[in-house]
Amino acid sequence: MTVAPSGLATQPIGEGAPVAEGVWQLKLPVPFPLRFVSVYLVRGDGGWTLVDAGYDYPPARAAWEAGAGAAGCDLAWDVDRIVVTHFHPDHIGAARWLGEKTGAPVCMMEREIPSARKLWGSSDTGPFMEYLVRQGMDRDMAEEAAAVMRYVLPLPEEMVPLRPGGKLPLRESAARIVHAPGHADNQIVLHDEARGILFAADHLLLGITPNIGLWPESEPHPLARYLESLEGMRRLGVDLVLPGHGPVFHDLDGRIRELVSHHEERLAVMRREISDRPKTPYEVSRIVFRGTLTEHQRCFALAETLAHLDHLVLEGRAQRVQKEEYVAYRTA
Ligand SMILES: [Zn+2]
Repeated sequence: MTVAPSGLATQPIGEGAPVAEGVWQLKLPVPFPLRFVSVYLVRGDGGWTLVDAGYDYPPARAAWEAGAGAAGCDLAWDVDRIVVTHFHPDHIGAARWLGEKTGAPVCMMEREIPSARKLWGSSDTGPFMEYLVRQGMDRDMAEEAAAVMRYVLPLPEEMVPLRPGGKLPLRESAARIVHAPGHADNQIVLHDEARGILFAADHLLLGITPNIGLWPESEPHPLARYLESLEGMRRLGVDLVLPGHGPVFHDLDGRIRELVSHHEERLAVMRREISDRPKTPYEVSRIVFRGTLTEHQRCFALAETLAHLDHLVLEGRAQRVQKEEYVAYRTA
């Protein structure tokens, strides 16, 4: 079975569309192959809640101004709060600009706030480069890739911590804050139980699968935590899933099944690749993620591969071999 996209939210990039009573989706452009990030405007009793801020560059700012206006939200006066689902630059990037423009507090999961400040507060590429070299990338490429991945991103001066289990009031309704690790350690999704809506961030996407990566700053075993979190979302009674990228869809349980089997397949493929001899994560990633990728995409492919190899070790199906300069994996 293949989960079908919804007929809702088929507007072009740069524009907004209503997806439920009082809920608008706005497709903000991003300057990379993902093409857009979807942010959401939710009307409350007093003002609006904005879910995610987008990537900060002029076309996205212009889309915010036009899209909010079309939804009937005056950014200068009508915004109660901005909720950032996780610290990736296409979600948090414009939070500072949007916070200043609206005067509204920027909220994020409590543990994500120090993580974001640490990651985006320094342009020191050294530790990230060493991580890439350790996974088997050659030093010249690692140097270039680290420079693409690590830079300083201005964040809001203050951010308000959110706690999982807490509720955000919305009009005639409320959204439960749910911790959804895997794609980012402290990502949150919002579950509007009364209306059956899940603001899914990058936890559940359609058309592409969320990147589950083991990064130098990651907590241990991201794939295990991701799969566990997906299990916990079965039978939530949701009938509209509003993701951070790609089409909106309805069949949450169907998509969970697809994502779980995708990772099972990937685990099997990677295990096969390390069955003849030990290979570095980078070597495996070059085999599994073929074709021409940008340095940015190569890093994501590597982190994704590493998350799967790490999961195979956790399950006792592979072993990690520590060499002097790099690590390798082989079947157990
Ligand atoms: Zn993300």
